[in-house]
Amino acid sequence: MTEQPQPTDQPTRTAIVTGAARGIGAAIARRFAQDGYAVAVLDLDESACAATVDAITADGGRALAVGVDVSDEAAANAAVERVAAELGAPTILVNNAGIIRDNMLFKMTVDDWDAVMGVHLRGSFLMTRAAQKYMTEAKWGRIINLSSTSALGNRGQANYSAAKAGLQGFTKTLAIELGKFGVTANAIAPGFIATDMTRATAERMGITFDQFLEGAAKEIPVQRVGLPEDIAATASFLARDEAGFVSGQVIYVAGGPTD
Ligand code: NAP
Repeated sequence: MTEQPQPTDQPTRTAIVTGAARGIGAAIARRFAQDGYAVAVLDLDESACAATVDAITADGGRALAVGVDVSDEAAANAAVERVAAELGAPTILVNNAGIIRDNMLFKMTVDDWDAVMGVHLRGSFLMTRAAQKYMTEAKWGRIINLSSTSALGNRGQANYSAAKAGLQGFTKTLAIELGKFGVTANAIAPGFIATDMTRATAERMGITFDQFLEGAAKEIPVQRVGLPEDIAATASFLARDEAGFVSGQVIYVAGGPTD
């Protein structure tokens, strides 16, 4: 087990991971629990968080399921307050919740645009604004935002690529504003990761998930697709004390260079 030993005189740190019922968020939540943090598992449907919470508690960790739509201001604020009251002041935040509404620009609806901006950008803003006060009070914090290689442009993803590029600017600004409080902000930009999100893309393309994975792996220098655990390992590093001089960065985790 990869463990981040915490000094015994320090209380356990509390981390919030959004969209943690499955996929990358679930892997980050489990990894953070192994690293010794109490973990708030946030997702749209509270009951959907049970599998992640149960996996953590079965391993002896502490976790709390919280249902929240991160794009709803009151709900985001309430979720962060609940985590602080029931688990401890959150000083680590991973803005991971995400959706795709892919379509070519000429077919993209305003709803497709607004939904994607709402979850990725507005959601990350609301969650960060609510959580930052606990970090600035503690004079320590870690904010990790999930961007994507799609930020560099991707056919059929005008909404998603704009949101993921926007998150990079958001991240750098957080790093500038919050650095003096001991808070770092970084973005992880994954390439192809095998999750329900990429499974949905395969369905939309009319091919099986296995065909999609095989084709994608051939295009990636390390000749495999990414796993949620690849992203969790990067998040684990960024959350550590020893990563305190890494801030405002976008780390591409894509099995090769990205352009
Ligand atoms: P996923 O399997 O689809 O999981 C995303 C989770 O976010 C779901 O549990 C979803 O809940 C939840 N969610 C959606 N809208 C929400 C909202 N408004 N409030 C709270 N939770 C919400 O996706 P993933 O592949 O793990 O992706 C995780 C993150 O990595 C996303 O930000 C994604 O854009 C990014 N990313 C993924 C890839 C990839 O290849 N998979 C590549 C680059 C970046 P529901 O199930 O109820 O909708």
